[in-house]
Amino acid sequence: MPSYALLPRKVPHVATKYRRIVTEIPAPESIPALEKLRRYEPQSMSGQPPVLWDRAEGIQVFDRFGNAWLDWSSGVLVTNVGHAHPKVRQAILDQVGRGLVHNYCFPSEIRARTAEALARVAPPGLDKVFLLTTGAEACECALKLIRTWGQKVGGRSAGKPDKITLVTFDNAFHGRTLGAQMAGGIPALKSWIVNLDPDMVQVSFPDGFRGPDTSFEGFLRALAQQSVKPEQVAGVMTETYQGGNASFAPPDYIQQLRAWCDRYQALLVFDEVQAGFGRTGTYWGFEHYGVVPDLICCGKGISSGLPISAVIGRKEVMDLYGPGSMTSTHTGNPVCCAAVLASLQVIEEQNLVRRSAELGQILQDEVRRVGRRYPQHVGAVHGRGMVAAMHMVKPGGIEPNAPLAWDVVRRSVEKGLLMFSPVGYGGASVKIAPPLVTPEDALREGIAVLEETLAEAVAEVVT
Ligand code: PLP
Repeated sequence: MPSYALLPRKVPHVATKYRRIVTEIPAPESIPALEKLRRYEPQSMSGQPPVLWDRAEGIQVFDRFGNAWLDWSSGVLVTNVGHAHPKVRQAILDQVGRGLVHNYCFPSEIRARTAEALARVAPPGLDKVFLLTTGAEACECALKLIRTWGQKVGGRSAGKPDKITLVTFDNAFHGRTLGAQMAGGIPALKSWIVNLDPDMVQVSFPDGFRGPDTSFEGFLRALAQQSVKPEQVAGVMTETYQGGNASFAPPDYIQQLRAWCDRYQALLVFDEVQAGFGRTGTYWGFEHYGVVPDLICCGKGISSGLPISAVIGRKEVMDLYGPGSMTSTHTGNPVCCAAVLASLQVIEEQNLVRRSAELGQILQDEVRRVGRRYPQHVGAVHGRGMVAAMHMVKPGGIEPNAPLAWDVVRRSVEKGLLMFSPVGYGGASVKIAPPLVTPEDALREGIAVLEETLAEAVAEVVT
């Protein structure tokens, strides 16, 4: 991934209801802070557009120099109820005011209420909640529970437990820690590990584009090709939709996977770190598949801003570890819990799941319409509800076109539409993820900017 040059560019001024660009971009006055970040942070942190965030409220992000962006990033799919929603903000302030800002695993009422609230929004049967801090941590915990489960229900031969295989998917992303990266399906992200676990295997993700075989037989074949017997599988974990490309699997594939997991006593885990809390037009993304997993990993939109995550699951799995042996220092931090409770309340009060479905339909239709105008450059548009991705390709094929995707993002940011840098396969997906509270006129304004940007980028980028 390249980083953006810190050279201010003259760009046309913009003044609309939702966007204001009045300086060069990056804003010249932001350069000292941007340079300080480059100096003191690892260069890995320099991949996002050079917008110096000063304040973010609702659907907008502001710098200190008079610019305002319409936000299509939601941070990184975090602020489902909008940035700094007044109720979330007040709940945080109230909790700080009460004087409890840390509790470790000691009991607290707010952690009890948060666990209960999350169990209530989960499907019946998934009624134990372990609060953690990051999405990767939730996925690591799920991996540990899967393997532990496999050892409990499977046999043992030749001095080794029989049922320890973890199945995940090509192109999957579950976070950047060791286990999460081993479970991930992006080879470049895990080459540093060198000694990959032979009992963690990946199969093709059936998105119908990068993974053209969408039949469940493809799953069975991929296991057989890797000499994995179904009885060896302790669990299957998948992002509900593959985050990088906003790609879903066909419902009948997942339904067959659910039945297969039941048959072989393997756990089915959905990583809902991106998909949960209304993002896809249903409360949980897996509702699109008509199945219920054994474990759900949550993060991002769970609090709309503060760092907290969770694993929600069936009692017999969640209780595999005895008292004191599955814990975390910052589990259920009280201030983060306050943000979760307020955020869940806003999702309910403002009917944000229905809103995500309704507004999401406009988003999906419009982004597909825009994509169809450039069939040589937009290989596919995936997504549901309020998340979409345009897969930019080199003309005449499906080879990813990262420079074009980067150009689209840069130009959008210069016009006051904030997106994070391209992600997904070959780093060539332009990802769209507005807060669920976005008004329709703001959504349409963003789409018009995208359309304009795409026309310019396609005309200028040499491929
Ligand atoms: N799982 C999915 C699907 C994600 O999209 C992410 C982050 O982008 C993670 C896990 C990791 O979350 P975190 O960055 O909070 O560790």
